[in-house]
Amino acid sequence: MIVLSNIQTLYDGTSATEAAIHHHVDVWIDQGKIQAIHPHDPHRPTQSGTCRIECTDYTVTPGLIDCHGHIMLFGIRREELERMNAPAGLLYAERILHTTLVDGGVTTLRDVGGATHVLKRWVEAGYMIGPRLKLAICMLSTTGGHADFRGPDRCCGEVSRLWPPGPGRPSSIVDGPWACRKRVREIAACGADLIKICASPGVVSPTDKLEHRDFTAAELDAICDEAAARGLYVAAHAHSRQGIALAIAHGVKDIQHISYLDEALAEQAYAKGCIVTPTSWISQALVDAPDLDPFVREKVLQVAAVHSRAVDIAYRSGLPLLAGTDPVLPGMHGRNYMELVSLIKDGLPPLAAWHGATGLAAAHIGQDDAGTLTPGKRADLLVCNQNVIEYPDRLGQGALVEVIKDGTGYRGGLAALPQRTFRSCVVEALNDDRRCGLGGL
Ligand SMILES: [Zn+2]
Repeated sequence: MIVLSNIQTLYDGTSATEAAIHHHVDVWIDQGKIQAIHPHDPHRPTQSGTCRIECTDYTVTPGLIDCHGHIMLFGIRREELERMNAPAGLLYAERILHTTLVDGGVTTLRDVGGATHVLKRWVEAGYMIGPRLKLAICMLSTTGGHADFRGPDRCCGEVSRLWPPGPGRPSSIVDGPWACRKRVREIAACGADLIKICASPGVVSPTDKLEHRDFTAAELDAICDEAAARGLYVAAHAHSRQGIALAIAHGVKDIQHISYLDEALAEQAYAKGCIVTPTSWISQALVDAPDLDPFVREKVLQVAAVHSRAVDIAYRSGLPLLAGTDPVLPGMHGRNYMELVSLIKDGLPPLAAWHGATGLAAAHIGQDDAGTLTPGKRADLLVCNQNVIEYPDRLGQGALVEVIKDGTGYRGGLAALPQRTFRSCVVEALNDDRRCGLGGL
């Protein structure tokens, strides 16, 4: 049993209101779960062997849930895509997973394209250190759509430089309703938790124009029907009005990016019970990205001109708004909290941004056992030495003391906690006879 004692300020992730803020409380953690949260009482009897950790100066929040991750992407330039798709790609993935948890404070990550089921299993088994994963595996688009990175040279085609088909990951490029059904079946069989599609062209893809749509109504019907038949929901990348409208009308649950969302579309989305993941950080960060192709830069500026307005409309319409980073530029992995900063910059109250990165996110991505600091939930917590609730940028300025996932510390900031490090993970894997080294993989 561990007691985080006399926490100065605790945000519990259950809402975007002050009711979710508590002062001077004790969090009791047992076997990786939150056992209880009590008003601070140093005299409350504990079992023998209980470890009490003084948190008088600390702010505690749930671990972050990033709803738009890409573990298998660390840049969109040709050489970065080629490095990620070479055998060393798994080495990059291991480092990205590590920094996402330990520096980014993300304890659950929904990867919406690229990561395969083997990464999820390796994290679950403890071979890799990282957030627990929810996977889309592919990001489906039509030929010439957002997943088709054939490049300004117009070569490469089906062997997309983005995420080429390989073990555990079918091609993301698909055309026609029956082919779409078959691809959804393949992705489901590969272990996906959701189906990710492109309902509109993208910003960083080299040949598609932002204002168009991607899949037809018949293709979207086929994808959403087939996904539902397998108990999966559909999330859609959608910038253009056409794309957003088609996604809403044909059964997509989560609309991502939402650049050209207007009041009428927001009303339709609300009526259909949709959620949105605006990805504000990447929309702002791309403006300063160096070396962009002029065609891509033009799209970046188009999105930057309208995105904040779309976030404002979504928020005022009452749409559930989730935090997702879309880390497609170098240097974004491990700074996932910047999505909170960017959503606040776009006008969200800080608690609304935090709720979209914790309890609200958990409820909508099928991770009901995490996201809030309430009894019975997974003990995923961030322990911070500053007011990161109002100023989440401080998470990148030395405020992040400890990242706790399932009751274990990963940052070494609270030495009394059981800790897991890259080194202990390696030693464990190579010395465990039952696993025959890594033979159990
Ligand atoms: Zn993305």
